[in-house]
Amino acid sequence: MQIHSDTITGRFAPSPTGALHTGSLVAAVGSWLMAKSAGGRWLLRMDDLDTPRQVAGMEDDIMRTLEDYGLEWDGEISRQSRHLDRYQQAFEQLQQLGVIYPCCCSRKEISQTASAPRPDDDTLPYPGTCRDGMRPGVPVRSWRVRVTDEELCFDDRRRGPVCQVLQQRCGDFALRRGDGEFAYQLAVVVDDADTGVNQVVRGDDLLASTPRQIFLQRLLGLPQPGYCHLPLVCGPGGEKLSKRDNLVSHQPGNSPGREGRLLWNILGFLGQEPPQEMFGAACGEILQWGVLHFDATRIPLTGGELRLS
Ligand code: GLU
Repeated sequence: MQIHSDTITGRFAPSPTGALHTGSLVAAVGSWLMAKSAGGRWLLRMDDLDTPRQVAGMEDDIMRTLEDYGLEWDGEISRQSRHLDRYQQAFEQLQQLGVIYPCCCSRKEISQTASAPRPDDDTLPYPGTCRDGMRPGVPVRSWRVRVTDEELCFDDRRRGPVCQVLQQRCGDFALRRGDGEFAYQLAVVVDDADTGVNQVVRGDDLLASTPRQIFLQRLLGLPQPGYCHLPLVCGPGGEKLSKRDNLVSHQPGNSPGREGRLLWNILGFLGQEPPQEMFGAACGEILQWGVLHFDATRIPLTGGELRLS
């Protein structure tokens, strides 16, 4: 089912593999503000396809944390694990287009033939070994989509025009594992379209994936959302934070005003300037200021450290 509507619809799509960290909270706040300041809806989706990496209780922790910060979502929470039939349909649609092929290459084999992994997202460009058929008698490790050498461009609200040639950047990328599990790239495209998401706001770490998603949208005949990739939170020396750093978890005993201080700092991190006297105020009050004053053109081009108090 596709919802076609002019209403701005944003979303936050955490993977329940751990508690939120400050970087994911920035994505939650940024996407909430961008949707709400445009009078839009903001959906919450659990990206729970990667079952072995899931941690019990984390979905609940994420929901409670969002509530602690006043980030209310609209409608029911959706879960990728419940949408497997939709991914199957999209996969079959692509198979009918003749753009999918089975691949037997292991990561190790790809790393021996591919150029070096991309430093920004670890992607090993797939050299196309199985494009014209797999060697006989070996199991299927993944199903890949055939990409082209065309330059694919989109306009990022913060970064401006971003262009990529998929053939060089990632090569034919995997949509499904040999054991049947669907890949993030396919699932995200199907889900965003099915739920009418037309505004994707998320961290810069996913910027490099966006052309892959647009490529799939075009093949599947789905609308292309607007994109805004937010600056990343780094450590004091500009280093990338690991997923374990700066966890923000729901803790009933948190000191009063803690959320209001972090939220105020997140708005500052996003280039907004909430009044000084709002530092540590109730989250609802800070968010209300944000809805009225949010200006996406002020989001800085570079990330940095996020003050925690
Ligand atoms: N579930 C993904 C993550 O937590 C984000 C998906 C998205 O925003 O497209 O990294």
